[in-house]
Amino acid sequence: MSDSKTSRLRELNRAHVWQPFTQMLDWNEGAPLLIEAAEGNELIDTDGRRYLDGVSSLWTNVHGHGHPALTRAIREQLDRVAHTTMLGLGNVPATELAAELVAIAPPGLEKVFYSDSGSTAVEIALKMAFQFWQHVGEPKRRRFVSLKEAYHGDTVGAVSVGGIDLFHGIFGPLLFDALHVPTPHAYRHPAGPDPIEVRDACLAALDATLEAHAGEVAALIIEPLVQGAAGMLLQPEGFLAGVAQRCRAHDVLLIADEVATGFGRTGTMFACEQESVSPDFLCVAKGISGGYLPLAATLTSRRVFEAFLGAPAECKQFFHGHTYTGNPLACAAARASLEVFRSERVIDGLEAKVETLSNALKPVERLPVVGEIRQRGLMVGIELVADRGTKERFPSERAVGNAVCYRAREHGVIVRPLGDVVILMPPLSCPSDELRRLVAAVGRSIEEVAVGA
Ligand code: PMP
Repeated sequence: MSDSKTSRLRELNRAHVWQPFTQMLDWNEGAPLLIEAAEGNELIDTDGRRYLDGVSSLWTNVHGHGHPALTRAIREQLDRVAHTTMLGLGNVPATELAAELVAIAPPGLEKVFYSDSGSTAVEIALKMAFQFWQHVGEPKRRRFVSLKEAYHGDTVGAVSVGGIDLFHGIFGPLLFDALHVPTPHAYRHPAGPDPIEVRDACLAALDATLEAHAGEVAALIIEPLVQGAAGMLLQPEGFLAGVAQRCRAHDVLLIADEVATGFGRTGTMFACEQESVSPDFLCVAKGISGGYLPLAATLTSRRVFEAFLGAPAECKQFFHGHTYTGNPLACAAARASLEVFRSERVIDGLEAKVETLSNALKPVERLPVVGEIRQRGLMVGIELVADRGTKERFPSERAVGNAVCYRAREHGVIVRPLGDVVILMPPLSCPSDELRRLVAAVGRSIEEVAVGA
């Protein structure tokens, strides 16, 4: 029965669905895995097979699937209303949630502007920063600084501040010209391997850029502590604080893109907390709704907000707003997720999980094809290399990272590579035995596919 169901769905999928970030020729030649249900930290396919959700359904899921508190909150909201517009109207869950987000965000962030994806949260911060300087009489501040290898989303503004050639190169002619500064990733940096020397070299490069463009820079955007899509590149201690201090000194607005790092992934509610940084904008999405419904928010300060105030005829308002902005169902899920953080003391429980994960990774680190394992909280990147000594990469046509992740499915886990970096980002709700199971399956897959290949 399920066999024919799976074949029928596969056929429909191949016929009509265009999958994101996917070479559809390969996809259509393969046997697409179709998820039908989920329970706890496991996904269930159309044949009833179970897999650990090793990347939290693309970094979104926080407390597991089907958590009763989130399910109940969404159902209860559904009985009231599923959606009303925020253009000209407010709604109850978005209003309550805004206050709750402000209460947990770094100090100084008082206003919440909603949208529905990480890309839109970033796009909004960029446009707000740009418009802010127009209103306060510094219209020459229109440039943006970002890190090389940054990833901030797929809309045109977010791609402009991105720096991953593979994803962003082709769109070059469409983009505005951002200023890119070096990424402090010690493993491959010429000033490496000492992370402190790499940090200082990168901060010096930032100083030079900010000085060369004094009075021209609207904002700097950064993924705090971990550059996720670049392959979990970890920033050395003090880098984020150093960036924030330089932004203050040059009156450059600081945009913290916590779309990936927010909601506990790095071990604290927000990554910025770990270096006591209060940005001018905080972009959040993914985990905000516990991973249940699309929701994003751009938080900002009173200073930024007040620059947009004026008489109607001045037309100083922020001309931006998506149709599903502040969707009540998604906001209800987010409120329930924050309540679970409090009632289950999720952040307090993370330290032990982080340690379990890093202990489980030790034997994987010894495999001869593992160049570096990068871990911050429950975010992990395992970089596979052809030669540990020289850090030489596998030829890209071998697609080793991809092959490892496909093999991992046979061992009951779903993970996804970024090039030859195998990414693990389990839900915060994963107990120790599941964390160990995840790492064991990935380690075994690396051994089977990459070692001696
Ligand atoms: N910023 C960061 C740091 C991200 O990791 C991502 C997505 N991986 C985005 C922005 C874009 O988010 P979305 O896919 O929801 O648009």
